[in-house]
Amino acid sequence: MSKSSTGSFLESVSRNFDKAARHTGLHKGLLAQIKACNSVYQMRFPVKIGSEYKVIEAYRVQHSHHRLPTKGGIRYSQKVEQDEVMALATLMTYKCAIVDVPFGGAKGGVKISPREYTTAQLQKITRRYTTELIRKNFIGPGIDVPAPDYGTGSREMAWILDTYMTFKGGEIDAAGCVTGKPVKLHGIQGRTEATGRGVFYGIREACSNAEDMKALGLTPGLAGKTMAIQGLGNVGYHTGLISQEEGDVKVVAVAEYEGAIYKEDGINIKKLAAHRKKTGSILNFPGAKNMEQRKQILELPVDILVPAALENQIRKDNARRVKAKIIAEAANGPVTADAEEILLKKGVMIIPDMYINAGGVTVSYFEWLKNLSHMRFGRMEKRFDQRTYTNIVETIERMTGKSVGAKEKEFLTRGADEIDLVRSGLEETMISAYSQIREIWKRRKAVEDLRSAAFVNALKKIGSDYENLGIFP
Ligand code: GLU
Repeated sequence: MSKSSTGSFLESVSRNFDKAARHTGLHKGLLAQIKACNSVYQMRFPVKIGSEYKVIEAYRVQHSHHRLPTKGGIRYSQKVEQDEVMALATLMTYKCAIVDVPFGGAKGGVKISPREYTTAQLQKITRRYTTELIRKNFIGPGIDVPAPDYGTGSREMAWILDTYMTFKGGEIDAAGCVTGKPVKLHGIQGRTEATGRGVFYGIREACSNAEDMKALGLTPGLAGKTMAIQGLGNVGYHTGLISQEEGDVKVVAVAEYEGAIYKEDGINIKKLAAHRKKTGSILNFPGAKNMEQRKQILELPVDILVPAALENQIRKDNARRVKAKIIAEAANGPVTADAEEILLKKGVMIIPDMYINAGGVTVSYFEWLKNLSHMRFGRMEKRFDQRTYTNIVETIERMTGKSVGAKEKEFLTRGADEIDLVRSGLEETMISAYSQIREIWKRRKAVEDLRSAAFVNALKKIGSDYENLGIFP
């Protein structure tokens, strides 16, 4: 990606901010403070790779300290640059505000292509990066808490935790210095699927409103709606899988690095992932057609388009050819501000990144709370609930003289496990955040689109935090 295209990512975020800011009634000085990136840490460190020394370029940006810790993932990609990390950190601040997660926004980036390194080399880079963060006080459960992002996962988070523990093992809450950790290493059930599951809940909410669907020429509900997914990474995979299994959505097309495929009667995502694991590619999937160019995925006539790869995918040059009715921004910044103007004129509904992909950070928040409480969710109430429900069922059985079957009884009397509570908390979060945003969008005529409504909602919450501090009028 050229400098100008990632530069325009930050510019798009800034334009979207300005467009919404006028509807907030907040003081100019306060808006300027909210908009600015508070701390930008650029680092270069040497790592010995084989017989050579590589100077690695890396970043951690803390966009807003109105709430602490700051929070956001770490990206490993050859395309990482300062402006990109700044844009991503900025989005994290609004994302957290929208889903009422009490953090400021941050993001990290290491400019490497993970494919070019061995596991041992990646571990060395990750540990050194973490050490740099510790040295500058840029990591800690009450300071700044990283998480996975593009090119990283639970493995990297385990290395980060272990490095942190080496230096600060005596801190009682040390495990909360990073989220997205393996479940067996202070992680939480359901974090891996969280972003994709959140995308599913968000799309389901948007599609449940009859009036909004009518405006798009669609019927309410998810069942039978067609979906195209760009990117079969963690987010794209779980969005597709859960939409298919729990929403009865028809995933007709998938694009990845190596190409794109189309299958009119639906692609089984689990089988596609297995096919890719076996052959190294999504191409030549049984029953599907290989598409000529992977970018064509963005131009298919589907109900829902899910860009789940990288920023700046739908731009001025291809926006006019987009035929989807709904775009759910599972990735951060996939639609540029220029493209958005064109799409809105065409009547496309864009469900913005800072809302639709906030499931990841929401479950990260649950993980952080678990680490601070030093206890798994559900431990206290599970048996109590189970006993209460059993008493209720047995009382009904006694009163009616009828008994429920063993299987039904087990279902009715179950106490919640951690995964049930995480999913329930995530579902509640996505539903209530959507209703807040939709209300602003529908009630205030001047706020014309969902992204502006999401911004207005975030800015008002952040603004009131600053006002409570007494810094601004
Ligand atoms: N990287 C994810 C995001 O962009 C998750 C961040 C987190 O869990 O802190 O939202």
